[in-house]
Amino acid sequence: MNNKLKIAIQKSGRLSEKSLDLLKECGIKLSNGNGKLKSEARNFPIEALFLRDDDIPQYVEQGVADVGILGENEVWEKKKDVVIVEKLGFAGCRMSLAIPKDEVYTGLSFFDNKKIATSYPVILGAFCEKHNLHVEIEEIGGSVEIAPGIGLADAIFDIVSTGSTLLMNGLKEVATVVESEAALIAGQRLDESKKAILDKLLFRIKAVKNASENKYITLNAPLSAVAEIIKLLPGMKSPTIVPLAEEGWCGIHSVVKEDEFWDIIDKMKDLGAEGILVIPIEKMVL
Ligand code: ATP
Ligand code: MG
Repeated sequence: MNNKLKIAIQKSGRLSEKSLDLLKECGIKLSNGNGKLKSEARNFPIEALFLRDDDIPQYVEQGVADVGILGENEVWEKKKDVVIVEKLGFAGCRMSLAIPKDEVYTGLSFFDNKKIATSYPVILGAFCEKHNLHVEIEEIGGSVEIAPGIGLADAIFDIVSTGSTLLMNGLKEVATVVESEAALIAGQRLDESKKAILDKLLFRIKAVKNASENKYITLNAPLSAVAEIIKLLPGMKSPTIVPLAEEGWCGIHSVVKEDEFWDIIDKMKDLGAEGILVIPIEKMVL
């Protein structure tokens, strides 16, 4: 019996390198060099299958792979019997409606009775139904953004990250339908031994994600300001306070969220904190 967890990863594309990097940060080394279709990790019971991202939901549903890494957009579009187990925080993008830049946009009703080109007819169809829009969906495999320019459609629905492709094709983004990022998905029928491996993998992924979303900070503060400074610092339990040789001062150690970090530092400086050090965290287990 093969009791390795089979994980499907995009063979080559925007998700490939980041998926392998994530597993590497989890201590799992795999290589997809030389056009290999499979790779086994030596130090973890996992085997990677390198596939096109479109095929991953189906393979996971059928049990050819047990779990997979792909964009949520593909999961929603394919509607297979799989569950999103964990969002992974990379390959973020939005799925938006765009129209020729000279058109006047009047709100969602603009799309009523229009023809929209997309590679994501399921997601678009559900959105239009929800908003009671009657549209004709023109499904095309790729290069969707040229459709209005060649007279194939009035508008498009596609993945956008910076918007530069839209601009280059004379389009403007007018409505975001949904936001997507890479996610770990799993099939519904994993046996106990595979579930145990998945739990172990998830534990590591969460530690890596927490670490990248947080920073360790140390600073010196006058004792009179400690109470106020601590209010700014939730820490993992509560901040560590250590005495300093200089009387009337202490050192404070804590963990802060990357996205709150500049704001907190500014406030701490105003309260008299000095010598603030910010240190990346390698792994963080809560
Ligand atoms: P495959 O050959 O495996 O089918 P693909 O061409 O369908 O690959 P990629 O372009 O590699 O797919 O994109 C993979 C995923 O990356 C998308 O499904 C989406 O979730 C995410 N993504 C993030 N930013 C973008 C972007 N600007 N354009 C397209 N996809 C993006
Ligand atoms: Mg694809």
